[in-house]
Amino acid sequence: MNLNETSAQTAAPVTQKGVYISTYGCQMNVNDTERMYSLLEMANFTPVTSPDQAEVIIINSCSVREKPVHKVYSEVGTFRRLKEKNPNIRIGVGGCVGSQEKDKLIKDAPLIDFVFGTDNIDQLPEIVGRAYDQSKVVQTQFQHRAPYHVETMVRNPGVATFVNITKGCDNFCTFCVVPYTRGREKSRPFSHILDDVNKLTQRGVREVTLLGQNVNSYKSDCGVDFADLIERLAVETDLQRIRYTTSHPKDFNQKLVDVMYRNQPKVCEYIHLPFQAGNSRVLEMMNRGYTREQYLEKIAMIKKAIPNVVLSTDIIVGFPTETEDEFKETISMVEAVGFETIYAFKYSPRPFTKAARFEGQIAEDVKDDRLARLFAAHDALAMPLAESYVGRVLDVLVEGKDEKRGNMHGRTSQNKNVYFTGDKSLIGQMVPMRITKANPAVFRGELI
Ligand code: SF4
Repeated sequence: MNLNETSAQTAAPVTQKGVYISTYGCQMNVNDTERMYSLLEMANFTPVTSPDQAEVIIINSCSVREKPVHKVYSEVGTFRRLKEKNPNIRIGVGGCVGSQEKDKLIKDAPLIDFVFGTDNIDQLPEIVGRAYDQSKVVQTQFQHRAPYHVETMVRNPGVATFVNITKGCDNFCTFCVVPYTRGREKSRPFSHILDDVNKLTQRGVREVTLLGQNVNSYKSDCGVDFADLIERLAVETDLQRIRYTTSHPKDFNQKLVDVMYRNQPKVCEYIHLPFQAGNSRVLEMMNRGYTREQYLEKIAMIKKAIPNVVLSTDIIVGFPTETEDEFKETISMVEAVGFETIYAFKYSPRPFTKAARFEGQIAEDVKDDRLARLFAAHDALAMPLAESYVGRVLDVLVEGKDEKRGNMHGRTSQNKNVYFTGDKSLIGQMVPMRITKANPAVFRGELI
C-alpha cells in the first residue's frame, strides 16, 4: 500500500483528535501499533502519550497469555471516567482479542465503540470514522484472498527497526490461538521487502529484524525463500545488521545456516528457536513437527557452523498430561543447549485450540512449581554464561541514549544490551566495546 493512497482514500476528520493506543503482547503487536498510529496520523489524528489527552483510545490486545479478555475489560473500565466526562471519546479494541471475540466484546462491555481484527488494520481510519457516524462498528473478517501487500510504517524508525515479512500461521500447534486470530500464513513479495528496507536505510536505519510468526517458511511468489531473502538483503542493501524472529525448528534448515555463516557479521549471531517442551511425546501432542532428538540435531548443525551463536527459546510447562519425568526433560534440554535467555510460561487453555479440550490438564500448583524450578535451573546457568563475556571486545551498534540514567546504549550481534558512557554523536555507529560487567539482562561496557 502506498502511504499517499491511504491518505487520499481516508475521510479525514476536520479537527485533529488525539489518539492513544495501549499495546499488549508480542513484537508483531508493537509493530501493528506503529502502523495504526501512522495510518491515523495520515488521517489527521495526533498520537498522544496518555488516554487523558485522547479522543480515540485503542487497546491493541493479545490473546496468547492468561486472561486476555479479562485484561481488555478491566482496561476499558479504567476509561469510563474519561468517557463520562467527554462522550465524544471513542474506545476501540483491536489485535488478537478483537479477532477472537468480535461483537461479544461490545455486548459485554458497551463502553467499547468499535472492534477490529488483526487483518483490518489498514481500514482503521475508516472504522474510526464510522464509529463517529454510527453507534457501534465491528470489522474482524480476514482478508483471505487479498495478497499481503503492506508498506512498513514507522514514524521514527531510529537505528534498528522491524519489517514484517509474513503474517498468520498454518502450523496449528495445539496450544496456540494464533492461526485463529491472525489467519492463514502469507508472505510479502520479496521486491516489496527490498523496497522497504532501502527506504528505511535512507532514513538512517542500520539494523532490521524480519518479523513473522514462522519466518522460516517465508516464500515469495518469485521463488525467493527465507535463506535467499536474508542473503539478498545482506548483499543488496546498506543494512549493517539483520535479525529475524520467530523461527520454527521444523523449518530451520542447513541452507539458512550456510547463508548466516556466509554473511557474518551482517547476519547476527543470535537465534531465537522455540522448543516448547523437551519430551518427544509432549512435542507430538503439541503438533510441533519435530522430536527432542531432531531439535538437538538442528542445534548441533547451527553450533557447528556458528560456534559463538547465542540461543534463546520459548518453553511451555504443564502442558496437558506432561509427567514429572517429561518435565525434567525440558530442564535437561535447557542445560544441554545452554540457552542464554528463556521465555517460559505455564500452559493455559486458549479458545478454539485442541489442547484446551485435552484430558489430563495439569493442576495450577504443579505448573507453578515446574515453572519456578525451570527458572531456577536456568538462573544457575545464565549467570556464568553472562559473566563469560566480561573482558571480551564486541561490536556494539549504538541505538540511543537512556535519558533517565544518562547512559548511551546499543546492542551486540548476540542481542546483548550494552550501556556505556559516551555522547549522542555515536548513535548509528558500530563501535568496538570492552564488556566490563555483565548479568543475564544487561551488560556494561567501555569504548575502546
Ligand atoms: S508455529 Fe505454532 S506456536 Fe507459532 S504461531 Fe504458529 S501455531 Fe502458534
